[in-house]
Amino acid sequence: MINFDENDRSLRKGKIETAHGDLNFPVFMPDATYGTISNMSFKDLEETGINAIVTNTLHLEQKLGSEKIAKLGGFHKLTGWDKPVLTDSGGFQVFSLIARRPNVKNKITDAGCSFVDYESGQYKFLSPETSQQIQAKIGSDIRVVLDEPVLENASLTDIKRSVERTTDWAKRSKKMFLELNNLSEDDFNNPKVKRPLLTAVVQGGSNFEYRKISLEALVEVGFDIYGLGGLPLQLKRTWDYSHEGGFYKELLQFLAESMPKDKLRYALGVGTPDNLKFAISVGWDLFDTVLPTRNARHGYIYVKKEIGDKEYDDYSVLHLSNSRYEYDESPLDSSCGCHTCKTTSRAYLRYLLKIGEGSGYRLASIHNLHFYSQFMEKIVRENKNV
Ligand SMILES: [Zn+2]
Repeated sequence: MINFDENDRSLRKGKIETAHGDLNFPVFMPDATYGTISNMSFKDLEETGINAIVTNTLHLEQKLGSEKIAKLGGFHKLTGWDKPVLTDSGGFQVFSLIARRPNVKNKITDAGCSFVDYESGQYKFLSPETSQQIQAKIGSDIRVVLDEPVLENASLTDIKRSVERTTDWAKRSKKMFLELNNLSEDDFNNPKVKRPLLTAVVQGGSNFEYRKISLEALVEVGFDIYGLGGLPLQLKRTWDYSHEGGFYKELLQFLAESMPKDKLRYALGVGTPDNLKFAISVGWDLFDTVLPTRNARHGYIYVKKEIGDKEYDDYSVLHLSNSRYEYDESPLDSSCGCHTCKTTSRAYLRYLLKIGEGSGYRLASIHNLHFYSQFMEKIVRENKNV
């Protein structure tokens, strides 16, 4: 199911076999939050070179319903996207919702997460088991177990409890996953048995020792992929935190060194092109972020070095709202082979974005996603693991 390319020892790479085709890694997957990449068709997406998407379990459940998706033949049949799909657990959205509005009905216990659904006003319950059931109905190729993140400034007691609960939930999730797929533990460990992949998420907040304890406990249970969630909620420590490489970079490096070599590593929510490059260099394999599409809608365009308004290590960013582009007839990036750069001038795209036209969002998103897929290919060509 997960085949590492043993010929190239300078970089972790290989392919993941799924029911919807092989997926080469390292891989970047854009977030199709509501089951779609906003303003784009799946054909548009495919043409950008993107080969997998991440969709959001809770939002799909709230807006469409997994029962309905299953009745319509599953996500792939419903949408026409026939490449790999990763579903998250829904945990982070529920956790954020509960953290923002704690009350009697919004709470997390060992059993799971209770909350009032802002869409329907109804009382809902997301447990390790129901998260797996919803993901199974969606029919995703890569699934994620429910975990409990911690808040900024979480005490050691809270971190310890979150790690214990995350481990317990991971065990319960795996049990339900095996049941749903009619598998034994031996089947799970047999590479010849075709099945979806299962991801556990390492907790431990900003405490490295507990991150390691969490990882070791999850490895003991046994998963295909080990994930690192974004920063603890509201934690202000960023990539540029006082540590030389940034707090999150230090954590990514620390965890990668502790992870089993033959399992995949998924850095949830990473990130900017520079951060992707760094994460790959220290041994991470899977990534997702909303950045290229969200930024596209704001005219924040990724281009080659020295032609944008702001320089980064390996690229620059062009701010299309800048008035200097008002009469600019050139493409976003003349070296880019995407549909947008072949057909559209900066001046026209700037105008479309300015008036909030969907066609402008589409054209800008096509370019940014094409940039990301090309950037990943470039990293694989040039980069080496440290
Ligand atoms: Zn382009």
